[in-house]
Order: sequence, then C-alpha cells, then structure tokens
Amino acid sequence: MSFKDLNLNKPLLRAIAEAGYDDPTLIQEKTIPVVLEGNDLIASAQTGTGKTAAFALPILQLLFDKQDAPKKGKKIRALIVSPTRELAIQIGENFKTYSTYTNLRSTVIYGGTGIEPQIDVLNKGVDILIATPGRLLDLHKQDVVNLDYVETLVLDEADLMLDMGFIDDVKKIERLCPEDKQILLFSATMPFKVEQLANTILKSPQRIEVTPTSSAAKDISQVLYYVPKRNKIELCLHLLRNTIKGSILIFRRTKFGVDKLEQTLLKNGYKVETLHGDKTQNDRQEALKKFKNGYVNILIATDVAARGIDINELDAVINFDLPNVPETYVHRIGRTGRAGNIGHAYSLCSADEKTYIKSIQQLINVQIPVEEDHPYPLDPKAKPEVHRSKKTGSKHKKGRKGEGSKKKKKRWY
Ligand code: AMP
Repeated sequence: MSFKDLNLNKPLLRAIAEAGYDDPTLIQEKTIPVVLEGNDLIASAQTGTGKTAAFALPILQLLFDKQDAPKKGKKIRALIVSPTRELAIQIGENFKTYSTYTNLRSTVIYGGTGIEPQIDVLNKGVDILIATPGRLLDLHKQDVVNLDYVETLVLDEADLMLDMGFIDDVKKIERLCPEDKQILLFSATMPFKVEQLANTILKSPQRIEVTPTSSAAKDISQVLYYVPKRNKIELCLHLLRNTIKGSILIFRRTKFGVDKLEQTLLKNGYKVETLHGDKTQNDRQEALKKFKNGYVNILIATDVAARGIDINELDAVINFDLPNVPETYVHRIGRTGRAGNIGHAYSLCSADEKTYIKSIQQLINVQIPVEEDHPYPLDPKAKPEVHRSKKTGSKHKKGRKGEGSKKKKKRWY
C-alpha cells in the first residue's frame, strides 16, 4: 500500500516524500482510514512503529479540509497529550515536518521551562496543541488555553501516563474538551487500568494492534547508519573507537569481506578472530575459543559460518553488510544482550542496500532509528555505487559454464 492509497492530500504527500518515507508502516495503514472516518480508536503500538505519523497525518488532513477563515483566529482543534517532555517535543517536531506545506500551526507546551514564551505562541493562535498534562492544566487555569473547540484528542503512551500518576489530570482534560470529540488512545501495553480508562471515555472505539515481531522485541537497541559503500570500513573503525565496546560480532556477506575487514582491524591494533566457510574445523574451534574466553573481543563472520554456533549474550552485533533475507537480520541481532542488559545492533547501510532495510523494517514492524551524526554520511539521493571491472570482459560470448570451471568455482561464504 502507498500513502496515495490512503487518500492523503498533496501538501501532506509532499512533506511525507521529503521526510524520506516510501510506504506507510502497518500501524499507519490501519490507523489513518479509521481516523479520517472520525471514529474513536484504541491502538496498542510501541514507539518505533511509526505511530506518531499514524495519528498526525490524518489529523492534519481533517483540519486542512475544513479550515475556518483566517480572520476568525486560530482555535485549538487537535490536542495531543503526552506523558513526557521529550515525547511531546518529538511529536511536535513530527507535526512541524508533516505540516510544512499547509498553513496549520502547532506548538508544544511542557513544564520545567519558562511559561511566558509558551503563552506568547498560544496567544498568536494554533490549530494543534501538544502538551504534557500538568502544564496544560496550568495554562488552562490561566485562561491561556481554550479547549472548547477541540475536535480530536490524542492520548499518547496512555500506559506510561497512568504509571506516572496522571489519571486524574487526563480525565479532567477529557472533560474540558467538548463532548462530541474524537478520541485516539495509543498505548504500548494494555493493562487493566488503560482498558478501564478507555471504557469510560471512548465511544465504540476501533481496536488496532501492532506489536513488533517477538524476536525483535527483546531489549535490543537498534541503530542504522547510512554510509557510502566505500566508507564502510572507516565508519566501522570510527564506531569501534568511539561507540561500540565489549564483545562484538561483525557480520559480513562474503568470506572475502571477512578477510579484508580482519586485515584492516588487525592493522589498527584490534584483537580479531574470523569464521568463514574456508576455515578448517580446527581453526573455527580455535577462533571460537579465543572469542569466548575473551582473548579477542571481535569476531567477524559470515551468516553461514555463524549458523548454529553458540555465540550469544554479546554486547553488540554490527551488520557491516545487510542481509538480503530479512529473517537473517532478526537472527543476527537476537544474539546480543546479556541477561538483563540491553543489547546493541548497529547496521551500516549503503545505497544499494536500502531495499534490504525496507523489508527488514516491514518484517520486524519497527522503523530502525537512523544515526545521522557521523563522519561519513550518505547523500540521500546517492545511487548505488557500481564497481566496474577494469577488464573490458571476455571476447567470448557468455554462456553455460564448462564442467572444469564449475569444479573450480569456490564458495563465497
Ligand atoms: P514513531 O513510532 O512515531 O516514534 O516513529 C519512529 C520513526 O519512524 C520516526 O523516526 C519516524 O520519522 C519514522 N517513520 C514514521 N513513519 C515512517 C514511514 N512510513 N516510513 C519511514 N519512516 C517512518
């Protein structure tokens, strides 16, 4: 499904394209039509599934479609309540991005910071308000916030909101809005108290559930680095020097890749062992032993060589090359995380591997956070690098391989 199929309007589609989103995530596919129809909604979805856009896009579309004459002044018509400042700020940034080509205005208010600048913005008028409960009620008491025109109320991270003791505030906020509003409730988990709240305030809500694939839901922090293919080794060295510590398993697609990286890391003073299909059983056992007893802390392997081998509880996995089979990604990263500690998975993605990332994200139902702050960024418009052989090629026609050459063919893993 594409964003166009979801009937979003042109200004939104343009902003979505500029944000680099190709297709909607599962929660977006399910949620956007329900919100556009004006229904109440209770959705269980975690951060990382694309849930912010799932409510922000249809809200913007609804507001865009029925705008009042500007002279009447802007009224708050969508209210998003979030338990924490950080989340509120993130939601605010999302709304700003998606509303770039509309004249809809949004702002964020939260506690722990000066109230005056927030009052100034509110006095100028906004269509969308993103707020933490305490500051919202405070500003409402001061008559700076008027909730009489709210058409859609979003309660984000409802479980966290209740855990943080905001239940009474949330109920109060709900009562301050008009009775016939639309309510969208998002929660990572659905404990009884969230169900209870939903039962009291939602009107025949549609239920939507999107949970990350269980194997990827384990506590693993995943990060994605977009990097030109030719800079992958430099980026890997940079990460090993500055970011990634402990016992590390690096995956490469081919044994040539494994050997090449091994040479570079050894030259740079790292203690490294490798596993690939060309090694004898003895060599492999030896390499594993050295890694397991901590004599070396880095092991570079191909998937095939690492399969079935008991190397778990790693501090980090680096996907130097991305797997073209999405399930392999899940197996690889599932090896990180020591009992009780979270594991780390770092993926280096070059222009030609973007399609792999797309299918991985579809499988695990998570948008892997992208780290842009690194020395070898990939130009978003970069085309895959083509490696041209210096040879002009054989003068003989390509054809079926002879028996001799088949025998000579070596395994690449
Ligand atoms: P969220 O679950 O709302 O915190 O979103 C997680 C991340 O996914 C954010 O960085 C979004 O910018 C990104 N994102 C949301 N929707 C899409 C999409 N359809 N395609 C790609 N990335 C997305």
